[in-house]
Amino acid sequence: MRLRLSLLALALLLPACSALTPPRAAPVPDAPPVPAPAPVAAAPVVKGANDPRLLATLYVQQAEEARRAAEQAFALAALRLPDALRKTGSAAPLEQPDGGKGKPPAVVFDVDETVLDNSPYQARAILAGERFTAPTWDQWVSEKKAAAIPGAPGFVAALRKAGVRPVFVTNRACAPRPDRPEEDCPQKADTIANLRATGFGEVPPEDLLLYKEQGWTADKSKRRAAVAAKYRIVMLVGDQLGDFVDVPRTADRTARRTLADAGQFSTRWVMVPNPMYGGWADSLPDPVAALRVD
Ligand SMILES: [Mg+2]
Repeated sequence: MRLRLSLLALALLLPACSALTPPRAAPVPDAPPVPAPAPVAAAPVVKGANDPRLLATLYVQQAEEARRAAEQAFALAALRLPDALRKTGSAAPLEQPDGGKGKPPAVVFDVDETVLDNSPYQARAILAGERFTAPTWDQWVSEKKAAAIPGAPGFVAALRKAGVRPVFVTNRACAPRPDRPEEDCPQKADTIANLRATGFGEVPPEDLLLYKEQGWTADKSKRRAAVAAKYRIVMLVGDQLGDFVDVPRTADRTARRTLADAGQFSTRWVMVPNPMYGGWADSLPDPVAALRVD
């Protein structure tokens, strides 16, 4: 009897169990072969995108911050000028140890990245993947297209008004050009024309002293001494430490700091910011190793 009941229960349960069994899947036709993914086009390499000079050049050309920093430098120079004139002494004591007493006052300016903006030359070099070369630089100088550094023309005009001579000492090099063989130093006329066109007025040739002119070296001490022979140097304005004091080629960061500490920054020496190039960069043969991480 019990066996008969079990068989009956089993008979009743079997259909229910078969309802729980999933139906056998219908056969799937062969899937079409998956095409290989199309090769992803490599991102186009933008020339200059990885150039280490890119950001600094863009800062000079595009940043409002750069414009204001340059203007601040010349505003500081203008604020300091009355004291620089009133107080005895020279901004170039090494070249003018007697303080220049009795001589008419002059302010000595560097040219490149101090009063003229050559960032387009940097931009061209970045886009061409080239480093600085004398021929490409001379081509740029010959074009006379450098713009004025913001704040510089106004300060130079204020100097002239105050009876102070602006004198320019530049490491633009005198070198003959095949197309102007009659000129010893075509770079001099080009620079004077560039300065005139950008609001610096008429600079007499004797007030622009170039590298290699009269045998002058790249160090500016001899040219500061030449200015000191005629004027009392009341102020120096530049974008490189070497515009204020000669810096040995081997000077490291510590030596450069020592030279700067012995100077007259913010009183008779005014620095114009130039993040693009300079002795500071040349003093770092391994820039990555020079990065500070703490
Ligand atoms: Mg300069």
